Amino acid sequence: MSGVIVTDLKQWGYCPRIVYYRRVMPGVGKATFKMEEARQAQEMIERLELRRGLHEYGLESAQRHFGMWLTDDGLGLAGKVDLVLETERLAAVVDFKLTSGEPGENHRLQLGGYAMLVEAAFRKSVDVGFVFRIPDNRLFVIQVDEVLREHVHKALRSISEISEQQLFPPATAVRARCVECEYANYCSDVW
Ligand code: SF4
Repeated sequence: MSGVIVTDLKQWGYCPRIVYYRRVMPGVGKATFKMEEARQAQEMIERLELRRGLHEYGLESAQRHFGMWLTDDGLGLAGKVDLVLETERLAAVVDFKLTSGEPGENHRLQLGGYAMLVEAAFRKSVDVGFVFRIPDNRLFVIQVDEVLREHVHKALRSISEISEQQLFPPATAVRARCVECEYANYCSDVW
């Protein structure tokens, strides 16, 4: 597998080993109920979004682009953005989240990756991203600053290294994540 997809960035922030399994041992994971649930939610997401006012994003007017697949060879990154909000001068990215927790480092990396893809494709700056938590209709603002951009670049370099050199990364420090992980059978050292 060559180029990185934004889902890899998100998984990298959750547990680097998931990225290793996906890229170095493709096909060994089991599809989970959560993944199927996410796929079925797509239509509902667009319906809900069209009822929301743009003022919730701090915008008076913007064009909405749903489900855009973007790729950039310079970044070595590709991904499907749930929603791009485009104004005359700038753009913003929105990701819809089905789970109930607070957005974590994995979501920040994901939003940062989307923001950088949109900047390259639209040639407009993206300084902010949003995570829309569907279960309670709550919006979280993620600043796309230089620190986040550097985290994205660093994660992209690390993912390329583990793919090319087949380096087995350490397990997540948050072992509760292992309980429902589709790769639990392959990580005997965490139990
Ligand atoms: S079982 Fe735990 S350490 Fe292994 S891939 Fe899953 S989350 Fe990561």
